[in-house]
Amino acid sequence: MSARIDELRAGLDDVRGRITRACREAGREADEVTLVVVTKFFPASDVRLLADLGVTDVGENRHQEAEAKAHECADLDVRWHFIGGLQSNKAAAVAAYADVVESVDRAKLVAPLARGAAGRPVQVLLQVSLDLPGADHRSGVPVEGVPALAARVGEHEELELAGLMAVAPLGEDPGAAFARLAEVRRDFLAEHPRAGVLSAGMSNDLEHAVAHGATHVRVGSAILGPRPVIL
Ligand SMILES: *Cc1c(COP(=O)(O)O)cnc(C)c1O
Repeated sequence: MSARIDELRAGLDDVRGRITRACREAGREADEVTLVVVTKFFPASDVRLLADLGVTDVGENRHQEAEAKAHECADLDVRWHFIGGLQSNKAAAVAAYADVVESVDRAKLVAPLARGAAGRPVQVLLQVSLDLPGADHRSGVPVEGVPALAARVGEHEELELAGLMAVAPLGEDPGAAFARLAEVRRDFLAEHPRAGVLSAGMSNDLEHAVAHGATHVRVGSAILGPRPVIL
């Protein structure tokens, strides 16, 4: 049986290779894309091993689990990305440990995030909905709501508007969805030229995301293995 660190190293090597190849095919440099390893459902000990293997950014989607892990790993030099659905009554607590909050999708979250930022700027990404009209709505601000939400974030000096985040809708070709995202981003960058982060792409679709300009990919199961099934 191989040790956990060997499993993680193999997963990381594989995903880093995929990112490098996707960048080459897109005519981009591999260092333009940051790998955020999504550690949800996996223990703090895995975060520690990943940091030993050179991982600089980790992602979590549930507040209590994320808070506990960030606390346990406070000695590590990793950036914590909050990528999950946010409740406004938890937003201040999330901003206290998260370096980047990727899932900001409504104005109600903005003031509590600023209040929780605890003396250092927290980076904010606006999560954009890529749902086609009539589709089941997943999370994210509708495209037409992006300018107003960006303006709200800009009112708070505790928050740094860093860019956009999206998840490809279920049942749609991710290439088509990320092509729409690239257009949304073009308009957004014209107004916010310094907010250049584009977080898109997961284990199954990172190549499509890199082809459409992602600067950050969020990859979990391709590195850590399948998540435990919650019954
Ligand atoms: C879980 C999750 C990921 C990682 O998904 P994998 O398919 O395991 O790579 C990425 N982004 C978000 C928002 C997630 O919740």
